Amino acid sequence: MKKESYLGVNVCDLDMKKAIEEIDTIIERKEPSFVVAINPEKIMKAEKDEKLLGLLNRAAIQIPDGVGVVIASKLKGGNIRTRVTGIDLMYEICGNAAKKGHKVYLLGAKPGVAEQAGGILKERYEGLNILGIRDGYFKDENEVLLDIIAKAPDILFVAMGSPKQEYWITEHMDNLKIPLLMGVGGSFDVTCGNIKRAPEWMCRLGLEWFYRLVKEPWRFKRMLVLPQFLFRVLLKR
Ligand code: UDP
Repeated sequence: MKKESYLGVNVCDLDMKKAIEEIDTIIERKEPSFVVAINPEKIMKAEKDEKLLGLLNRAAIQIPDGVGVVIASKLKGGNIRTRVTGIDLMYEICGNAAKKGHKVYLLGAKPGVAEQAGGILKERYEGLNILGIRDGYFKDENEVLLDIIAKAPDILFVAMGSPKQEYWITEHMDNLKIPLLMGVGGSFDVTCGNIKRAPEWMCRLGLEWFYRLVKEPWRFKRMLVLPQFLFRVLLKR
């Protein structure tokens, strides 16, 4: 799998089909590996934070989640032409897991949200085996870790926001011994309809950021990162 690098952060050149093939290989290999979604915000944070940079590059797969990464690839003569968003990949992984019998564990979001998301996912992907669900506001971390170890899923989705979820995953992945771990941010909330996604046509035009800006104007500051990121990428040889 080819990887491109933007301001030092690796991003895989893959589409959804290739991502699922890679994930199947990872699950068969049974060595704890994680998937991380890359967007300009994470790259800019990692530029100032060496620990975060190392952690993002430690992932087996870095998916091109943000439209800014696709634009950067175009500007720098790379090959990444399509976004693979974290939430779409989570859905595809669930669909694939239902067919192949991979066991799934959901960890994160406010109490009740992961349960509701789990119910929706099971309905959507017939036969999906979700064997454990926990919210992301636990007090006794050890108890949560023991529950995950006892249930031994093949896939653990962690929805605790970024970079918290990535730190959590890398801290515990070797002990948990789960083949595939993936941070999915607010995806459980989106699945439940607590947060609405941009309409399909806006996503296609790469305008999801604009939709989020209108819906969640307090994110304005976070979004200024996109032009800054592209500027930094262009400046860098
Ligand atoms: N969250 C959590 N535990 C925490 C902090 C956050 O489970 O200690 C959850 C929160 O309820 C939400 C998700 O993490 O479901 C964060 O979503 P957000 O959209 O902010 O994440 P992003 O995708 O922007 O990283």
